[in-house]
Amino acid sequence: MKHRLLTMVIALGVCSCARTPPDLQVVSDAADALGGRQKILAIKTLTIEGEGSSPNVGQNTMPDGDLPVWKVTEFKRTIDFAGGRMRTQQLRTAQFLFANSNTQRQDQGLDGDVAYNVAMDGTATRASANAMQDRRIEMLHNPIAIVRAALDEPNTTVSGLRSAQNQQIVEVKTAKGEMLTLAIDAATKLPARVTSMSDNPNMGDVAIDTAFLEYEDVGGVKLPKHYVTKIDKYLQFELKVTKNTLDEAGAAGVLAAPADAKSAEAPPAAPPIVVTAEPVGKGIWWLAGSGNHRSVVFEFDNHLTLFEVPLNEARSKAVIDKARTLSSKPLTQAVVSHHHFDHSGGLRVAVAEGLTIITYKANEEFFKDLVARRHTIVPDELEKNPKPLKLVVVDDALTMKDNSMEVQLYHLRDNPREGTNLFAYVPRDRILVQADLYDSTWMYHYWGENVITNIEKIRKLKVDKQVPIHGAIQSYRDMVKTIRSKPAPATD
Ligand SMILES: [Zn+2]
Repeated sequence: MKHRLLTMVIALGVCSCARTPPDLQVVSDAADALGGRQKILAIKTLTIEGEGSSPNVGQNTMPDGDLPVWKVTEFKRTIDFAGGRMRTQQLRTAQFLFANSNTQRQDQGLDGDVAYNVAMDGTATRASANAMQDRRIEMLHNPIAIVRAALDEPNTTVSGLRSAQNQQIVEVKTAKGEMLTLAIDAATKLPARVTSMSDNPNMGDVAIDTAFLEYEDVGGVKLPKHYVTKIDKYLQFELKVTKNTLDEAGAAGVLAAPADAKSAEAPPAAPPIVVTAEPVGKGIWWLAGSGNHRSVVFEFDNHLTLFEVPLNEARSKAVIDKARTLSSKPLTQAVVSHHHFDHSGGLRVAVAEGLTIITYKANEEFFKDLVARRHTIVPDELEKNPKPLKLVVVDDALTMKDNSMEVQLYHLRDNPREGTNLFAYVPRDRILVQADLYDSTWMYHYWGENVITNIEKIRKLKVDKQVPIHGAIQSYRDMVKTIRSKPAPATD
């Protein structure tokens, strides 16, 4: 009898283990804490309304300064869990000096494998496969979505259970191969955060982490009233929920991809890159082509110097390759005008190509960090062939001069938006080369007077022509006229 009882106990033990491994049990407990497995699985849609803020990562005045912020209002996100559909609408307003329209209405959707955007005039377009993948991950950065995926989606696996800092942590791998880390509060059993790894052109491998805070009860289901998403160490999005609604009447109606977007082919992740070279003076070329990020090449006695390696590895590699076709002299230097991500995106490939980097002194630590970071998710040239950073820092001004060329570099002083910006001046041709001081296509020129002061009063330069990183080549006279015609939006 005693023996038989023991056998039964063992059998029961084995049996319950086989049914629910501990990894899955933790998620199952989370489902119970959220309102019960059946209740969670029965939810059709969740509508989240609220407001918050969305900082511009990589666009601060100084590399370690506060980020410029978009204030987000009229935020509304609806998720259809079973259908894999999501739509997010929001209005964002720039809380910083922005050269274009400072309010933008955004409307983005996901319908299975189709990502789409709806413009303010109602036109829907298909978004890229990358956008589709990002939005799927974004949808899973929600406690109900991740718990449902872990418990109920065929071929989704849960593994790697461990404990840390009062949280139980598991790895969730979806049927599509997406990997997410789910942390569950050990005391409340509620999901505390979801983390996923992503590639960023500037920062490389980054964790995107969403914390779920201030749960409230909505019809027996626990839902966060506060979401905080970080990319690496930066705040990416913070949402304060004003209303959580389950199974709102008609909610599913807005989720289907518009026919035009659905039938269109997804645009390529990376549009083709064109680099043109236009001579703008003896031994000076403007490298334009596709996009609105240009570079300039200067030819010295025995080498070439590039001004700007913008955007990302692909654009900057194409620019470097083009520069090397312009002369038999070696390309040895790249000036990085400032630290903003769209201007320093080519830093790593320039280092990998052996170029010496010239930049303002305040960028030194930040650039050292960017060069040292790992890019294992999407390995770039520097990840594959690490090279040391060769850096020349400029303290206010630097003149590069030989028999063929003279280029003066100046720090842009006292600018409200650009704290680390270097612009270039060629005295022989009276050419100004600049990034973000002025763009002929901008709606407003908030810091235009500061730019004019830097050129005329502080540096006492005589400029005939401005050769920009953004916008069109213009005479200096036209530049000043444009700046003064639209200094800021009219206020009444
Ligand atoms: Zn720029």
